[in-house]
Amino acid sequence: MARLPSACPLDCPDTCGLEVDVEDGRLRRIAGRADHPFSGGFICGKVRGSARRVYSAERVCQPMRRVGAKGSGEFEALSWDAALELIARRLQAVRARWGGSAILPVSYGGSNGLLSQDGFDARLFDRLGASRLLRTVCAAPTGRAAGGLYGKMPGVALQCYDQAQLIVVWGCNPSATSIHLVPVIRRAQRAGARLVVVDPRRTPLAGHADLHLPVLPGTDLPVALSIIRWLFDKGSADTAFLSAHARGAAELRQRAEAWSFERAAAVAGLQPELLERFATLYAASSPAVIRCGWGVERNRNGGSAVAAILALPSVAGKFGVAGGGYTMSNSSGFQLDPRAAVGSQPAATRAVNLSQLGKSLLRLSDPPLQAVFVYNMNPLASCPAQNKVRQGLLREDLFSVVFEQVWTDTARLADVVLPATTFFEHRELKVSYGSYALRRAAPCIAPVGEARSNAAVFAELCARLGLNQPGEVQDVEGLETRLLSQLNAEQRQALCERGLALPDFGDAPVQFGDVFPKTPDGKVDLCPAALDDEAPGGLYCFRPAIQEGSLQLISPAIPQLVSSTFGGSLRGPIPLQIHPGDAADRGLFDQGTVRVFNASGEVVCQLACSTTMRRGVVCLPKGLWARHTANGCTANALAPDTLSDLGGGACYNDARVEVEAWQGP
Ligand code: SF4
Repeated sequence: MARLPSACPLDCPDTCGLEVDVEDGRLRRIAGRADHPFSGGFICGKVRGSARRVYSAERVCQPMRRVGAKGSGEFEALSWDAALELIARRLQAVRARWGGSAILPVSYGGSNGLLSQDGFDARLFDRLGASRLLRTVCAAPTGRAAGGLYGKMPGVALQCYDQAQLIVVWGCNPSATSIHLVPVIRRAQRAGARLVVVDPRRTPLAGHADLHLPVLPGTDLPVALSIIRWLFDKGSADTAFLSAHARGAAELRQRAEAWSFERAAAVAGLQPELLERFATLYAASSPAVIRCGWGVERNRNGGSAVAAILALPSVAGKFGVAGGGYTMSNSSGFQLDPRAAVGSQPAATRAVNLSQLGKSLLRLSDPPLQAVFVYNMNPLASCPAQNKVRQGLLREDLFSVVFEQVWTDTARLADVVLPATTFFEHRELKVSYGSYALRRAAPCIAPVGEARSNAAVFAELCARLGLNQPGEVQDVEGLETRLLSQLNAEQRQALCERGLALPDFGDAPVQFGDVFPKTPDGKVDLCPAALDDEAPGGLYCFRPAIQEGSLQLISPAIPQLVSSTFGGSLRGPIPLQIHPGDAADRGLFDQGTVRVFNASGEVVCQLACSTTMRRGVVCLPKGLWARHTANGCTANALAPDTLSDLGGGACYNDARVEVEAWQGP
């Protein structure tokens, strides 16, 4: 038996170091690597049990071609050579007749290491002149807001939260999405730190909080603005910091002026006293840190809400001390660009927003989309307006390739399915977006079946389509060498010896001590002109919800599903959670079968009454597959394909629904 080092590249902020036992060429045990900081030896159940997925009966083991009607699930095997030839020929034909922009790559973060995404795939689609995909289903509004205010300044490292006196967890459930942060927060609490949780649900951490604000989804913006107003009005704003390090403070104050605690509380469905207690605690505590999560952005006001939350430490003067400031994404420690490393750059073609994939597949013209190439993603389980996505993927005239590890709902609708390696089977480099680290992992096992890596397949397609240029990097080893050449000698050595390198500023930067805004003048811009132009009505403009249904549907992560990646491993059925009072009002019973519906679609599923839900809000987790509900639809069938105010992000939490007892078909 061999014990091999690895690292987890899945879409998760923690990026654990792994230790993998391999016997007779098969994975036997997957555990955490004790010598890696932050993750320090324990990992989530998803990855600990992921050998089951690697060897699952649902694993795609060889290239397959559709033989039955689209969506019928009838496929036949073909060789890699035949599959790649077929794909190259069809892409060439689409390009010749319709132009390159009739081709759309569809991908997100399924296995989003630097060697699996935005390298050879980008070269292929850039040079085909394919439509450019805007990956907006997650992190687009937060990226715009954080970039606009602070130019992506590195945030407080998660392991430093035990230095804070006040920890604010806003729109984030670390018990599901960043499990290593939980013990740090609990340790800080035992040492006397206070905890505030802002979340519509009583999450596990909210149950341990000093203060829980169960805001209605989409109302974080007025909540944050009311605190900003109070800080200014009460003389608790740090005017010295603002005049030395920020621009736009007067404008921000003016825009917050309309939001008294009473008004904000009425909109957010809270008692005004809760807001005052929160503001008073925040003003009085130092170090104080805000963990802003991606739950905040999933609505029409999401970008402005994130901007207002991130403005708080500037207004209250919480920077300059260890454990003080904010954390959003901590991926800015390394600026490694696989696209540049393979000699490519984005083509000046039209952009297609992933949050409106269904609409684009059905309605885009001049030219219409004629071919999609899906990889690192299960869009049927992940994109809003699920019924439109399904309808679009079922178009008879659409040529679709799905390059996947397992038979997802999307793969079953494809024309050609290609078998992809998991991260245990290919080489990977991954920059963490929680802790500060670049991690490297070599393959632990040989590819299962005929699976191939993204790098190998996209490089081969480039070659078959004659898109390579002399002297360019042609394989994953060359790509890795190029990327590593951008590190200093010490970082390269650490990566080789420990599988982990740290950024120049180390792994625990102090904001406004070690790291500063990366804006052009190095100041915080509290009201950036670009964001002000982009947001409808201007930055910090609150847009009320459309009152379509009586209940707000949220679709957060659960420990088993941070994305759809592990949906195939989750046993169903998965119920809709509802407050017992809301169920009783509708004559519904715990464990009964219900129909959840709005104008976009319906989901038939079980009901689970839970006092962790607040009144007026129901919950069905993100990342579910068709198998988890009675009618094969998930929360995304009810989510609109409208866009958030910044970054064109998805508005999953703007879904308004009705729930009634299921009467049968
Ligand atoms: S998914 Fe997250 S918690 Fe689980 S092993 Fe990967 S990095 Fe660690």
